[in-house]
Amino acid sequence: TVYYSQSIAKQEIQKLAGGKDAVERHEMWHMKQAEEFRKAGWEITKENRSEYLKELCKKAKKNLDALGITQDNVSEISDYAYQQYQLGRYDETEAEYMLIYNRR
Ligand SMILES: [Zn+2]
Repeated sequence: TVYYSQSIAKQEIQKLAGGKDAVERHEMWHMKQAEEFRKAGWEITKENRSEYLKELCKKAKKNLDALGITQDNVSEISDYAYQQYQLGRYDETEAEYMLIYNRR
C-alpha cells in the first residue's frame, strides 16, 4: 500500500534531488544524526525529542559553518535547504547538503 499523505518536505526533496531514493537517503542521514547522539550518551525519547532537536540543530549549524555554508550560499544546495536554514532547522539543511554532495 502506498501512503500518499507525504509531507511537503518529502515531496520537495523528491522533486529536487531525484526520486524516492533521495528521500530514503535523506532519512538515512537523520538516522545517522540520531545514532551519533546515542553514541554520545543520549537516549532519545518522546519526552526529550524537542531538546534533542535543539541540540542537533546546534551541532548541525557548527558542521555547516565548517563546510562554509552561509546565509548567502545555502540556496545553492536546494530551495528546501534554504527554507530550513531560515527556520533554524540546520539538521534539515545538513541532511540536504549530504544528499546533494554525496550524489556524485
Ligand atoms: Zn529531514
